[in-house]
Amino acid sequence: MSTDTLLDRFLRYVQIYTTSDHAADGTPSTQQQWDLLRLLRDELTALGAVDVTLTDLGFVLATIPATVNADLPTVAFMAHVDTAPDFSGEGVKPIVHRAYAGGPIVLPDDPKQVLDPDVDPWLTKAIGHDIVSASGTTLLGADDKAGVAIVMSMVAHLLAHPEIPHGPIRVCFNPDEEIGRGVDGLDLKQFGADAAYTFDGEFPGEVNWETFSGDSGHVVIEGVSTHPGTAKKYGMVNALVLAGKLLASLPREGMSPETTELREGYLHPVRMEGNTAHCEVDFILRDFDNDKLAAIGDRLRGLCQGLQASEPRARITCTITPSYRNMGYWLRDDMRPVEFAREAMRAVGLTPESPAIRGGTDGSRLTERGLPTPNLFTGGHNPHGPLEWASVQDMEKAVEVGVRLAQLWAEQGASYPRRYSR
Ligand SMILES: [Zn+2]
Repeated sequence: MSTDTLLDRFLRYVQIYTTSDHAADGTPSTQQQWDLLRLLRDELTALGAVDVTLTDLGFVLATIPATVNADLPTVAFMAHVDTAPDFSGEGVKPIVHRAYAGGPIVLPDDPKQVLDPDVDPWLTKAIGHDIVSASGTTLLGADDKAGVAIVMSMVAHLLAHPEIPHGPIRVCFNPDEEIGRGVDGLDLKQFGADAAYTFDGEFPGEVNWETFSGDSGHVVIEGVSTHPGTAKKYGMVNALVLAGKLLASLPREGMSPETTELREGYLHPVRMEGNTAHCEVDFILRDFDNDKLAAIGDRLRGLCQGLQASEPRARITCTITPSYRNMGYWLRDDMRPVEFAREAMRAVGLTPESPAIRGGTDGSRLTERGLPTPNLFTGGHNPHGPLEWASVQDMEKAVEVGVRLAQLWAEQGASYPRRYSR
């Protein structure tokens, strides 16, 4: 029997370097993610999970067999192993601040990095908790190793307590969430779940069932290249100057990330690369409403058409590609996965809250593909940077929520539609 605590697991996982990489092909995008994936496969096997598999594309799958003899849907719990490429995730040195007393915490490896409750009010709510931070020069990686530790602790608890009644449970640890490709390689038939949850949220009580819908926009500007010494004579058209005009023409107020919040969408340039002859600009487009998202796409196309009309010698193309869709479009049809999560939270003394996520999750893609997958809190805060931290007590609450949720599905979920279970 394992004597690992949730904190032991969390500290072990955050020290494994698993940063993902937007620019890399292949799944997982980085080889180092295999280190944690293999460890999790081995730990699941040691705990006594069955059908433990590590797929060629880097998905750890496992089953906790049902403890009741009834026809019940299969419910899955997931977390991602990669950390965000935005900030270093190599050589993470986690620090445990036992019984946090309030006030600022200076991170030793870069004293300019200070966890400050005046800036991050969640710290005040965690007074008395054991808080884990990084040391100042890396992110912590609670996003999403808090989720990984929660799922592993839940597995350990359920396997050690077969008297807890639940149906079949599947577990998945996946790579590359942070680069938006997290679940593309997941075979839903092999996964075999009828509903799933990601543990990838933040504050206690959080259950998310609405996310942005996202598209990407790709604008290519072909100019006319000549020697600058004879540019007037030969009619140079500078693609960089046109790209600059396009950026300057973007609507700002109410349509940029810097000026929007809550349920407002945006149009956001994220990359520009080129030279006089040829320039490319990438955009992301976001809104909670698919019709409004389409209107943002029309706006970008219109700006490109206007630019084209102003300079007929250039060639300007604008391509808009769907990225992911608001999971709420599907979950609204059958809210049971969300309602059970809310009930589980109340059962452990939390007040459920469902803020709409201004981003996508692995669950956005999974729900769109036919596996309803709301997102649950982990107790991690301020991800993707050096001031990331997590509360041990809130992570433990998340384990309790997961265990309670498994029981609720057995008590009330029998009539839920079977989607991928065999
Ligand atoms: Zn995450």
